Amino acid sequence: MSDIRFQHVTKIFGRKVEAVKDLSFIINDGEYVSLIGPSGCGKTTALRLLAGTILPTKGQIFFDDKHMENVSIQDRNIGFVFQHFAIFPHMTVWENVAYGPTVRGRHKKDIESLVENALKSVQISSKAELYPPTLSAPDWQKTALARVLASEARILLLDEPLGALDQKIREEFQVFLRDLVKREKLTAIHVTHDQAEALTISDKVAVMNKGELIQLGSPTDLIYNPNHIFTSFFVGESDFLEGVVINDEEKESEVKIGQSIIRTHNTGVSKGKRVAVAVRREFFQLEKITKDADKITNNYINGTIIQDQFLGLLRRVRVRLENQQIIEAKIHAKYPIHFNENESVKVGFDSSLSRCFDYPKEGIIAALEM
Ligand code: ADP
Ligand code: MG
Repeated sequence: MSDIRFQHVTKIFGRKVEAVKDLSFIINDGEYVSLIGPSGCGKTTALRLLAGTILPTKGQIFFDDKHMENVSIQDRNIGFVFQHFAIFPHMTVWENVAYGPTVRGRHKKDIESLVENALKSVQISSKAELYPPTLSAPDWQKTALARVLASEARILLLDEPLGALDQKIREEFQVFLRDLVKREKLTAIHVTHDQAEALTISDKVAVMNKGELIQLGSPTDLIYNPNHIFTSFFVGESDFLEGVVINDEEKESEVKIGQSIIRTHNTGVSKGKRVAVAVRREFFQLEKITKDADKITNNYINGTIIQDQFLGLLRRVRVRLENQQIIEAKIHAKYPIHFNENESVKVGFDSSLSRCFDYPKEGIIAALEM
């Protein structure tokens, strides 16, 4: 058990709320997959379709090659963990964890060993006799996870499970959760609004917008190889430079931006096309214009510093390019050079780290609407 396959799945609520649209993807057995995207983009709906609490309006869902249409929630081998802890406050941790196997009529001996193993696996055995109101938030979530394990579910669905935890504990819990899923050989599908969490915890991340799947890829793919303008926009921070392709070679294209010509990764857009060149803010390189130029990069546009601002670990340097577009470079706080207002600089980047997208007909802002 089991690959999960969505095949052209659409869910329409009421007459016309298309919560998810034509969703097709495969999640392999044992993978940890996160779903990210703006609020209302259909993440929870996708989880509910998987769980079987709602059925697709169109399309099919398969576990391995079995069509799930007539398979009930109980028979889908699924466990849930939510932000708002779904455990019973009037039962001890032990009783909460024993609940699943008990209602399924397992023998007393089996229940005991399932519960003990589950408690041990989430490291909460010492609190078995306590009642949830006396526990910390992470222990509530451990109890919820133990409950999933004791129910022998193989697929773990998590909807903002760490949303109620403080940042530091949240980061520790991310590691704990991933380890648990891998050790127990579960398949996990995890909804989060925290993209850093998704990139840390997952084998693959699915980026969604307005009910559609935009890109499903590894965390490094999403950062280094976005294949859609929305991925560049939503995952991390990028600027989009407007230009026209004047030359396309096998690996690189030349794009005219204002009066400058820069090289970009060739993303398959052809000569003469108007494009948006996406560059992640941390991939920009900045250099003062001096006589011994070309130190950092020879692929650059001239610009003028607006502001060099300290942000703790990073600095944000805002620059007006010669075509009047304003970009923001994120550089390390320790970067030895400080930039002064109105100073002339070169703004460069490694061509292989940029991506070139067809300029959206409706304009960048409309194309990136969430
Ligand atoms: P997310 O979890 O990404 O924030 P949801 O999957 O909850 O998004 O919702 C996607 C869209 O479907 C939203 O527009 C939401 O208002 C709508 N929606 C979700 N559930 C229902 C429902 N039961 N009835 C009507 N509309 C719904
Ligand atoms: Mg949701």
